[in-house]
Order: sequence, then C-alpha cells, then structure tokens
Amino acid sequence: MDYEVVIGLEVHAELSTKTKIYCSCSTEFGGEPNTHCCPVCTGMPGALPVLNKKVVEYAVKAGLAMNCEIAKDSKQDRKNYFYPDLPKAYQISQFDLPLCYKGHLDINVDGIEKTIGITRIHIEEDAGKLNHDEYGGEALVDLNRACVPLIEIVSEPDMRSAQEAKAYVEKIKSILEYLEVSDCKMQEGSLRADVNLSIRKKGETKFGTRTETKNLNSFKAIVRSIEFEIDRQIKAVEKGEEIVQETRRWDDDRGIGYAMRGKEDAHDYRYFPEPDLSLIKLTDEYINNLRNSLPELPESRKQRYIKDFELPEYDANIITASKKLADLFDEAVKTSKNPKSISNWIMGDLTRMMSENNVEDVPFTGTDLAKLVGLIDNGKISSAIAKKVFEDMFANGKDPEKIVEEKGMLQISDEGAIKEIVMKVLENNPQSIADFKAGKDKALGFLVGQAMKESKGKANPQMLNKMFLDELNK
Ligand code: ADP
Ligand code: MG
Ligand code: ZN
Repeated sequence: MDYEVVIGLEVHAELSTKTKIYCSCSTEFGGEPNTHCCPVCTGMPGALPVLNKKVVEYAVKAGLAMNCEIAKDSKQDRKNYFYPDLPKAYQISQFDLPLCYKGHLDINVDGIEKTIGITRIHIEEDAGKLNHDEYGGEALVDLNRACVPLIEIVSEPDMRSAQEAKAYVEKIKSILEYLEVSDCKMQEGSLRADVNLSIRKKGETKFGTRTETKNLNSFKAIVRSIEFEIDRQIKAVEKGEEIVQETRRWDDDRGIGYAMRGKEDAHDYRYFPEPDLSLIKLTDEYINNLRNSLPELPESRKQRYIKDFELPEYDANIITASKKLADLFDEAVKTSKNPKSISNWIMGDLTRMMSENNVEDVPFTGTDLAKLVGLIDNGKISSAIAKKVFEDMFANGKDPEKIVEEKGMLQISDEGAIKEIVMKVLENNPQSIADFKAGKDKALGFLVGQAMKESKGKANPQMLNKMFLDELNK
C-alpha cells in the first residue's frame, strides 16, 4: 500500500428533547405523517422561531464531554438551499460562531490509543422526510422530523482507516448515551455520519481532493462505504484520473457508492445571520453548572470497574462502551459476589443474542442476571442448564429462579439419585468398564457423558465424576 487514507467525519445526532428546536411540537419518532407540525416547523410565512433552551443545554453538555471550549457568544445562521423536505428553503444552523469548538476524543483501535480532534459542535434543525411512494411513483413529504434539534459534530481530518472511523463514532455514541441527550438509534436515523475521505501518497504532506459520502446510518455501512471509497479512489488515481470533489451516496443493499452531485462550498449556501433569533449568550456560571452536572462518563466508569471489581481492561472496555450494558452490570453486581461471571454473561451470550435478534434493550434486569449466576455458583444448576435458563430469560424476561422451579431444572446433587444413575450407566456399558480397567482414561469421560444424558443435563458433574471413580476403582 503506497497510499495513506485521510478521513474526517461530520456526525449528526438528534437531541432527545421533548419538543422541537424552534416550536413546541413533539419530537417523537414516527406518528402519522404531518401530525407533529405547526406553522413554525412547516415554514409558514411570518411564523417566528423561539429557541428551545434544552437544546443549548444538551449541546453544551455534549461539548463539555468531548473536551470542547464553549462559546459564551454564539449565533444562528440561515443556510440557504432548496429541497422539497425543507419548506422554508433554508435551514437554521450555525456558521462562523458555533456553540462548541476545539475539542477532542480518544479512541482505541487494537490497543493503540489515538486522539481525534473535534473542530466544532453546532446546533441546527433537521429537515423533513420524503417518502417515495412505490406505487404512484411520487414523493410524499412528511414534516414530522422538520425542526427536530440536531447537533453536528465535525472532526479534524485525523482518521486513517475505517476502523478508526468506526471507533470514533462508537465513542461519540457511547458518550451521548451516557449524557442521555440523544437516543442514538442509528436505524431510526437519530445518529448518522457523513464521511469525508481522500487519499495521498505516503510521505505527501498535502491532502488530496476529498469526496463526502452522506447519511450513513449503521457501523456496517460506515466501514463498508469507506473500504469501497478507498478502493475506488486508489484505482482512479492509478489509472491517472483525477478525483472530483463531490457528494456521494452509499447503497448498503448493493454494497456500492455512487456520485450524487458536485460538492457545494460554504459560499454556495449564502449563509447570513438568522434575523428572527437573538445571539446565544452564556455565562460562566451556566457553563460551570453544566460541567459539574455531567454524569459519570465511559472512561471513568471503565476505571471504576477495573479497580472495584477487578475486571480485565478488555471486559471493562466492552461493557462500558454501552450505557445499557454498564447499567445492567452495575445493577447485577449489587447482589452478586461474582462480577467476572456477570461480565462473561454480558460479553458472551447477551451481546450475541441481542445482535442476532436485533434487540436494542436488555430484556431482563441485572438482579435476575445476578440470580442466574448465583444458581450456578451454588451448584443448583449446571452450566449447560444455565444456557437454557438464560435463553428463557432473554425471550420472556422471567426470573431465573422461577424458570428453574417451573421446569424442574434443579441440578441433582442427591447422593442416592446420583448413585442410581451411575449404577444404571455402568450396567449398560460393560465395555467402558473394561476399557477403564485396561488404562483407557477416556472411558470415564464417556460414562459421565452418558450419565449426563440420562439425567437430561441435571446431574451434578463433579459428583458423577467422583462416584464413577469410586465404583470403577472398587
Ligand atoms: P463542509 O462543511 O463543506 O463539508 P468542512 O470544512 O466543514 O466542509 O469539512 C468537513 C469535513 O471534511 C471535516 O470533518 C474535515 O475534517 C474533513 N476534511 C477536510 N478536508 C479533507 C480531506 N482532504 N480529506 C479528508 N477529509 C477532509
Ligand atoms: Mg460537509
Ligand atoms: Zn412545530
């Protein structure tokens, strides 16, 4: 590889305020088309916007958590362009004086730490949505999303691979979730990224011409579109073609990117200060209050897990990356003496089943997970049975103790009952007895396996092992 890849991201996150940025309509996702609307968000002439204070609060929190400077004076501007889902024919955004600037985030890819600069974070309004009518071949406008508050987080061109870009967006997602300022549901479009990408020969100090691929709304799409675009640009340059600065789209079903339009520059938008809104002026006291109110963020939570629960850094990293998983862990360890086992269940079966079933929320409580681990640690159920109980908890959110009771899954640890099974298995397998006596230790494993089968996985394996040995050595 003679080329170096240069990536800068613009990440949009919808803020989870109850009402929109310039009116009191609901921000709730979905709903009958055009029912969360009023004269302001549908852009009626003469309607006046009023800035929602919560939007500023949420954006400043995001800025503080991402190590930004907060502007005490910032302003809102009109970004002029026409699009059918933008009834005013301009978007209120921030141009030269954004709310937050000069921040940074640390990412970790394959154990290597790296700092990614954040140029700015500004507030703006979202546009509506076009629904393309499959049958009539027409586009229908839904303005429920118009005026939903967004922050746009613009990075420096500091990333050098798809994996770094992914880690950076993951970090943003986890911080916004911890702050509870955005639900970050990528499949609903509440978190989406535009990827700016260029390549240059290794050792070159000037950046190459970039393209911008818009609106990527899954980690998979971010990674695949970057890999596609790197490949496309390298091939073009090798053929002696010039890279054209352009806006591109990514088709995730077909796995290809394609050019959408020539790239516009800032002056094409004819930005000017929004005359219907006053400057945003923040006091030191306001900013400091928000700074002091920030919740525990992923990094410090990770350190706490390593220190207080002796979790390996690997575990702590994975669990704290998701607020939902970290909250589950915190609740579980309140009543469990086995944090490492709790962590194993979360990192293993739980994350696997959540992604396989496309489930966003953990379907059971931390207390129930602690009970499951307790049942195993107290020898009440075997680990094979525990897997089945876990599946039931996942599907039905039921208390594991109830599941075990109702389904008669308790481990058999009764000497008499175990002995009965052992004797039966020995009687049916004389060859294995002979094998064992001839020095084939494997025969013991086979016998224990048969006994497990006989007991439908419920016999206590340590007891089985011991009793077989006692009998065979008689
Ligand atoms: P615009 O708003 O027109 O898209 P910006 O100057 O705000 O332009 O830059 C957008 C993003 O592009 C930033 O994240 C920045 O880091 C990135 N970027 C700028 N130049 C390059 C480049 N040559 N290669 C890759 N990314 C770049
Ligand atoms: Mg851009
Ligand atoms: Zn409205």
